[in-house]
Amino acid sequence: MQVPAHFEYERASSVQHALELLARWGPEARLVAGGHSLIPMMKLRLARPEALIDINDLTDLSYIRLAPAGTGAAAGGDSGGDSGGDSGGGSELAIGAMTRHADLLASPVVGEHYPIFHDAERVIADPIVRNRGTVGGSLCQADPSEDLSAAFAAVGATAVIQGRGTSRTVPVREFHTGPYETALAAGEMLVEVRVPVRPGGGSAYQKVERRVGDWAVAAAGAALWLDGETIRDVGIGLTAVGAEHFHAPEAEAALRGTAATEENFARAGALAAQHCNPIADQRGPVDYKRHLAGELTLRALRKAAARARGSE
Ligand SMILES: Cc1cc2nc3c(=O)[nH]c(=O)nc-3n(C[C@H](O)[C@H](O)[C@H](O)COP(=O)(O)OP(=O)(O)OC[C@H]3O[C@@H](n4cnc5c(N)ncnc54)[C@H](O)[C@@H]3O)c2cc1C
Repeated sequence: MQVPAHFEYERASSVQHALELLARWGPEARLVAGGHSLIPMMKLRLARPEALIDINDLTDLSYIRLAPAGTGAAAGGDSGGDSGGDSGGGSELAIGAMTRHADLLASPVVGEHYPIFHDAERVIADPIVRNRGTVGGSLCQADPSEDLSAAFAAVGATAVIQGRGTSRTVPVREFHTGPYETALAAGEMLVEVRVPVRPGGGSAYQKVERRVGDWAVAAAGAALWLDGETIRDVGIGLTAVGAEHFHAPEAEAALRGTAATEENFARAGALAAQHCNPIADQRGPVDYKRHLAGELTLRALRKAAARARGSE
């Protein structure tokens, strides 16, 4: 039986209280959300925090809401649930950090505007993990094989970070500074992720896993916006293949302003494969993962375009 080393336990009653506890305990304290990444690491002694600050009572950080762009919902608003609000341009999806994977998967407003998250959530772990694991915990864990980081990178999301008396935003593409490392400073926490909602878009996520519920051998997410058959804008996220900041800027640049054709998608896939940096491990050799990066990018773009056209 594996048990963690001794730790102190605190239960935060509000964001402010969590930030005060973080300040009081200092750098050896860790927040615990779903605990599905942190607790296994503690059992394996890969993490040995002096104190755990439990944020599961912060239900006001559990929401998915369509809000006017720039306002988000982190500063207050209704807690819990999934609200449709106005749809269309000038808005953004505001997703609280304590939103569970299962809530993201069940959300109609997410499915309407960004089916990429439903695609990704269907293949993240299993229902037990999805019932507890959170959006914030997933992004803050910064596991190089994590799925939501690639999906949020593809859609151009922004992370909302709160400290004691401070609030700042960081593009998700800059939030991950390395494997298991983020832009969070000591004493800060992630409170919300914002995703701009723009017309004419489609998105999709494609993953290869060794068996159901496993981490990705490789995965790619794509979000694109069409003017007729011209690609107005595009985002491509990659995971488990050593793509810097979970995205593929060379492939995106090659696609912008071009026609949404199979040939151009294949070229973008080749660029994504060329510029990623997979490592060989028990999930496969480098060549196989690189091949998957290209093929899954192509498939995600194809499906995202079909959704943008309304043909799927
Ligand atoms: C069997 C199994 C299979 C899995 N398969 C997959 C998979 O296929 N794909 C995938 O993407 N993931 C997978 N996961 C991971 C799962 O998605 C976890 O839920 C997720 O990685 C972490 O979320 P959590 O809420 O459990 O975070 P926790 O374990 O509670 O925390 C993780 C880290 O984030 C920090 N943290 C948490 N919340 C915040 C916050 N708001 N602000 C600042 N720091 C914070 C914690 O201090 C800790 O360092 C799997 C997990 C398991 C156990």
